[in-house]
Formats: sequence, C-alpha cells, structure tokens
Amino acid sequence: MDSDALKALIRTVPDFPEPGIQFRDITTLIGHGPGLSATIDILARRAQAAGAQAIAGMEARGFIFGAAVAVKLGLGFVPVRKPGKLPIKTIGIDYALEYGTDRLEVDPGAIANGQNVVIVDDLIATGGTALAAAELLRMAGARVDHALFVIDLPDLGGADRLRLARLSVEAIMQFSGT
Ligand code: AMP
Repeated sequence: MDSDALKALIRTVPDFPEPGIQFRDITTLIGHGPGLSATIDILARRAQAAGAQAIAGMEARGFIFGAAVAVKLGLGFVPVRKPGKLPIKTIGIDYALEYGTDRLEVDPGAIANGQNVVIVDDLIATGGTALAAAELLRMAGARVDHALFVIDLPDLGGADRLRLARLSVEAIMQFSGT
C-alpha cells in the first residue's frame, strides 16, 4: 500500500477534543491489517536507514507503532512514559502545552551511552512532545538524530522546530490545517 492508500485509512473527526481541531484518528488505520503492516514496514525501513540501535515511542500511541518497528528490526524498545507509571527512580522532563505543562519520564538505565535511538510516534503537531522526548533521551545518554511519524501536520510547524533541534524528521503522510 502506498502513502495515499494509507492516508485514506485515517479517520478525521472534526471538533475533537475541542472546537476547531480536526482529530486525525489512527484507530481506523491500525484496525486494517494490510494498512498497519504497510505502515510498520515503511517506518522500519526508515529506522533501519537511520542506523537505529533502539526505538523509543511516546505513551500511548507511540507504543503501538514504536514497539512494532522495534520487533520488526529485532531492536529493543524504550517507552517514554507519562509521569508516575514507571516503578523505579526515573529521569523526567517538564514541557509546555498550550494550557499548562506536562511531563515525560524514562528509565535512566534503558539506554547505553551513545546508543542511536530513533523516535517513533503517531503524529507530530506542534512538536512539543517529540522535542521533550528527544531532550529526555539525550539526557539519558542516547544519540537522537531521527524522529519518524505516521502523520505530520506541517501547518503547526512541529517538524521545523525539531529540525532546529538537530533532528531529521520524516512522516508517511501530511494533513494541512490544524
Ligand atoms: P504535539 O506535541 O503538539 O506535536 O502533539 C503530539 C501528540 O498530540 C501527538 O502524538 C498526537 O497523539 C496528539 N495530537 C495533536 N494534535 C492532534 C490531531 N490533530 N489529531 C490527532 N492527534 C493529535
């Protein structure tokens, strides 16, 4: 399946979770066997080309794609978790949202020093989440040069923000607007 066929499997829900947002729902993509498989194949090829030694994904939808890519490549998976979920002493990073702040945490022992960790997530909007994840993984000792997404919303400028932070960004498909 090519990227146009995969794009057709994304369900767009207007005004969710608030008015004005076009929610790009991956539920319909991951529920489609050939679509899910083709998506993982594309991401895995790109992660391999980037020299990935481990894959990191952000809770929760990044776990679906990231873990599947890791399995496909025979690599370990690093979960970038919401606060308070890991049962050990974590390292974390707080980052700004449109309203308020959020936090991501990882196991400080999950990454070998200098390991090439490729980030995988479902969607990049403002880039705030991916930027925080990259910074956190770098704090944990990773080399983070690549971030892969299923969907990019280029009008929100996230990919450009990531590139300014020395990350190469690739997405399978783009949707204009918010
Ligand atoms: P951001 O930090 O702004 O790049 O947003 C990151 C996360 O928010 C993504 O991983 C998505 O899970 C979610 N998200 C943001 N905007 C949308 C949208 N329009 N449709 C679906 N998910 C979204």
